[in-house]
Formats: sequence, structure tokens, C-alpha cells
Amino acid sequence: MKALEFFNNTRKECLDDLFDFIRIPSVTRDRNAVKDAADWLMKRLKKTADYAELLDTLGNPVILAKWDPQNDNNIHQKVPCILFYGHYDVQPPEPLDKWISPPFEPEIRDGRIYARGVGDNKGQLFANLRAIECIHQSNELDVRVIFVFDGEEELGSPNLEKALEKKSELFKDVDLIIVSDGPADPTWKPTLEFGARGIQTIQINLQSANDDVHSGNFGGIQPNPVWDLISILKTMRNDGGKCLIEGFYDDVFTPSKEALDAAKELNRNPEVYKQQLGIDYFGEELDQPLSHRVMFRPTFNIRGIQSGSVRGKAKTIIPKDAVIEIDVRLVPNQTPEKIEKLFLAHLGKISQKSERMAAVIDRCKIEFGASFYPMFTSLELQWTKILEESIEEGFQEKPLKVPLAGGSLPLYSLYKIIEKPMYIIPYAQPDEANHAPNENLMVEWFEKGVRTSIILLRRLVKEEIEM
Ligand SMILES: [Zn+2]
Repeated sequence: MKALEFFNNTRKECLDDLFDFIRIPSVTRDRNAVKDAADWLMKRLKKTADYAELLDTLGNPVILAKWDPQNDNNIHQKVPCILFYGHYDVQPPEPLDKWISPPFEPEIRDGRIYARGVGDNKGQLFANLRAIECIHQSNELDVRVIFVFDGEEELGSPNLEKALEKKSELFKDVDLIIVSDGPADPTWKPTLEFGARGIQTIQINLQSANDDVHSGNFGGIQPNPVWDLISILKTMRNDGGKCLIEGFYDDVFTPSKEALDAAKELNRNPEVYKQQLGIDYFGEELDQPLSHRVMFRPTFNIRGIQSGSVRGKAKTIIPKDAVIEIDVRLVPNQTPEKIEKLFLAHLGKISQKSERMAAVIDRCKIEFGASFYPMFTSLELQWTKILEESIEEGFQEKPLKVPLAGGSLPLYSLYKIIEKPMYIIPYAQPDEANHAPNENLMVEWFEKGVRTSIILLRRLVKEEIEM
């Protein structure tokens, strides 16, 4: 493969170019700096891409690029079209005093590049871009490639969907989507992910009186909002960790045999979790295997409660209000909308149980916050084997297949517009420290990433693909 050779011979200048890109402090809210990074990308894309366009949005630009096959001997023969997604905005670098070297002056120490955004996501994005460039340079590009560069991922990509919608024509032939973002599996094995859980956040705010009052003088009269919220919460979950909201599990998907096998192969050890987390017993659905609980099952989590004061600030009062926040992790085929509906219906039902409960719920303000849909690509598709083999060749190690990553990604808009199988292949090692000081990317992982992408773009041409 000439492209691999070309990459191996240009490793030094590849890193120099990556450093130039990383030096641009494209913190999402700094629109000028993000624009500089967008201009940098546009200039680079124009050298090889057949099409590159910077789309203005209400926020930061989205960039689209496309490469056509160079050796299209038979114009009528359909060749696969691969869409890559990456984001070029970065998290703020603060706290600055925790950085060993300045966040926007990349430095290599012990084989790792240290800089804000190197892992999340400029380095991983650049690995994919570099792979396309090397193949193009070697005249070996036999597939169609589209690249979406997002400038607002760290804000949840609020303007991406609208921007992509306008260009939907461009995406109609896409066969699969590849995203290199996030860290690889904690076991340090190269990783192929097929989706991520979704999320719906819920806030219940109960103000039951005008003011905090003396718990002696008014104890027995003023209702305590914490007790009342606890009463509500107790109706939502049993001691075995099951959510009691009617219909909550109705849409939960049944994992296929392949997905179950992959989960089994992850070989998650309960003892390792116990040690890592410092826990003696597990949470959530006790009747489900551990590997299912971390990916195939939804969770109903209390993410925080606030009311009154404790410890050094404790006062003997009846607090006037209490706030509780819940996050529900969704699995395929659950939707945030349905969860909202079920949650409200549940409150309606407990209102009917007593007048008092109805009065409490009447004073509750319910707000539904951030939500992402779950995403899942079936493991049975033909692409799985090709991607798996490419990663194995690029990393010289068999990858782990993770059916569903535990976290949630703002990639749903991409998925929704394009409606094609989506894969996540992280090129950052597990301790990349994304969003934290001293974010870093191992040079070895970056280079293995470039090689993997070159290999998979070449493998995707092979004839055995059914189009
Ligand atoms: Zn991030």
C-alpha cells in the first residue's frame, strides 16, 4: 500500500502540521479563534478535496468536504461512501496552573503530545484527515469520502442539524459513518463501539412555603419538601433497582446474540469494578447481569438533591424548598419524548392516590433538560468485520467490540439526518485526560490511528462488499 508508505515517510511533517492546528486556541465560545481553526482546515482541504465548503451557522461554522474516487474505472459501479465526523472546537483549558506545559503550546513528553484538544478531538480528527490525504497523494482513493467538521461539539452541537439539513443531498449515498472521538476502552485495547446510551434529565423543584422556618416553632405545621420529594421518589423505584414508572421498560431493545457475545467478551470483572470504585455492593437492577447493566439497560439515577444545609452550616429549620435532579440513561428504542410522557403520567397517577399528594405535586415545578437519543448500530452488518480487521491490522491487536458505550454523545443529529450505521473508533488512549488539565494523546496511538484509517479505507473497496 503506497499510502501507508507515504505516511510512514512523512511522520515528522504530519506531527508538525498537527501542532500548527492545535496551537489555534479554538475554545468553543471564542468565535474568532474557532473561525481561525476553520480557516486553517479550509485551506488544507482545498489542496486535496474535490469539494470543501464552510457553512455559516448561528454559532460556529460547520465544514463539509468531499473526495471522489481517483480510479473510477467503471463510473456506473457503485463504490462505498464513508462519512467521517470530527470536531475542531475544544474545551476551555482552565485551570491553567494545573498544566505542566501551556495548553496551546503542544509539547511531546514521554511519547505523549500534551495540549488542549489534542485528544478531544483535533488529533483524532487529524488522524482521519491525514489518512485520506495519504491515500489521495498515493492515488489510491477508490471510495467516496465525506468529512463533517463540527465547530460546536463541546456545546452539544446546537446548530449542526440545521446546517446538515441544508446539504442533505450530499449525504444520500453515505453507507457508513465513522467517528473517532473519546478514549479507548479502559483495558487499553483498541476499541470499536457501535453506539451509546441516550439521556434525559429531569428536575423536580418543590417550594412548599414562603421561607425556611424554625423547626421547633413550626414543626408539625409547615410541610417538609424533602420528605414529600422522598415520598414521590419512593414510588419510582423499588429496592431491587427497578424503575416503577409504568411503561419505563416497554421499549427497551433485546440485544442480539452478537451483541450479547461481544458484551461477554468484554469480560468485565465485578471485583475490578469494586476496587476501582471503592464499592462493596452494586447499584441498579440487581436481577440483571453486570455487563447488561452498564450498556443494555436504562438507568434511573438521582444526580443530586439540594435542600436546607448540613455539616458546618446546619440549622434546625424546615427548609422552604427542595430540588431533585434525575438523569435517565436511555437504551435503544427508548426516546426522551416517551420518557417525559411516562414520567408525567406517573405523577398524575400518584396525584390520584390522595388529596395531600395531589396538592404536593401541584406545587412541584417539573423541568425536562438536556436529552440525547440512544444510538445503536447492529453488530451483524457487513461493515463490522471489515472495521474489526482494519483496526487489528492498524493497531497490531484485536479490538474490543463495545456494543454500547455507557456515556451519551451529541451525535444524534448526524445519525438522524444521514440514517446510516455509525461506528465509533477512538484513537485516543484511555487516559487522554480530555476536558482536564494536561490533556494528551500518545504519538503511538495517533499514528496507529492514521494507519487504521488508511487500511480501512482501502479495505472498504474490496469486491465482497454487497452494495
Ligand atoms: Zn469533549
